[in-house]
Amino acid sequence: MGSGVLYVVATPIGNLEDITYRAVRILSEVSLIAAEDTRVTRKLLNHFDIQTPVKSHYKDRELAQAKAFLEILRAGRDIGLVSDAGTPAISDPGQILVELCHQNSIKVVPIPGPSAVVALVSSSGLCKDGFVFIGFLPSKKSAKTKTLISFQQEHRGVVFYESPRRILKTLEVCKDLFPQRKICLGRELTKLHEEIQVGKVQFLIDLYAKKDLIRGEIVVVVDGDDANVLTLDDPVALLELLKEQGLTMKDAVKKIAKDLGLSKSDVYEHGLRVWGKR
Ligand code: SAM
Repeated sequence: MGSGVLYVVATPIGNLEDITYRAVRILSEVSLIAAEDTRVTRKLLNHFDIQTPVKSHYKDRELAQAKAFLEILRAGRDIGLVSDAGTPAISDPGQILVELCHQNSIKVVPIPGPSAVVALVSSSGLCKDGFVFIGFLPSKKSAKTKTLISFQQEHRGVVFYESPRRILKTLEVCKDLFPQRKICLGRELTKLHEEIQVGKVQFLIDLYAKKDLIRGEIVVVVDGDDANVLTLDDPVALLELLKEQGLTMKDAVKKIAKDLGLSKSDVYEHGLRVWGKR
C-alpha cells in the first residue's frame, strides 16, 4: 500500500459559513484529524456532523507529534491537519509536519480557505505593492521596536497579528516610527462584532484609548508608503531605540555621534530630552 496524504485544511476564523464544501468532505473522509486543540475542533466537527477521530498536535510537542503522524501517513492513512481557526501552519502548528512530509515524499495537499491575514489584507486597500506578513510581533517594547524599525524602508504593506492586551502599546510604537502612515486594524473579522478601521495611527490610538477593554482578535496592516517615516539618519529615533535597548545615555550619544558623523554636543542635547533630563 502507498503512503497516505496530508491535507492542510483551513477552517473558519469566526463565521462557520466560511468553511468550504471541500474542507467538510476531506475532514469526513480522512482517517484522522490532527488538531491544535481537540476540544475546539470537536465543536466544529459536531456542527458539521463529522465523525472522524481527532488527535492533538500542539506547539509544545509539535516535533514528537509530527513524527508520530508521519508514521501514520507512511502506513497509508490520510490525515487532515487543522488549527483552532484559519489556515494551519500560519502562526500556528503545522510547518514541522509539512516539512517532514516533503522530506519523506508524502503528498501534501492544501485545502485553502479562511486566514485572518488574507482577510484583512484584501479589505485594507493598503497593499497595492504586495505585503510582508510577520506573524505575531514580539511582546517586549524594545524587540517590537527593533522588528518594526527594520521595515522603515519597506514599500509593501506590513501585516502582523496582535493581542488586544498589547494593541495600544503597539500603536504607540507605530506612532513613534510611522506617524504619517495609514494603518488598517481588523478586529473580530467575520464575527458578530467585526470592525475594520483605517486611519493614521493617532486616530486609532484616540479610538481605542477610549475603551475600557479592547476585546477580540486583531490583525494590523501598516501602509508601505515610506515617504513620511523617520529614517535611520534621525538621531532622536536612534537614541530612543538605543534607550529601549538599555544603553546608557552616554554610550548612546557616543555611538550615534560616531555612526552619523555628528557633533557629540548636538547629539547630547537630543539625549537630554530623550532621557527626560531636560
Ligand atoms: N492560522 C490562523 C490564520 O490563518 O488566520 C492564525 C492563527 S494565530 C495563532 C491567531 C491570531 O490570528 C489572533 O491572535 C489574531 O491576531 C488573528 N486572528 C485570528 N482570527 C481572527 C479574526 N477573526 N479577526 C481578527 N484577527 C484574527
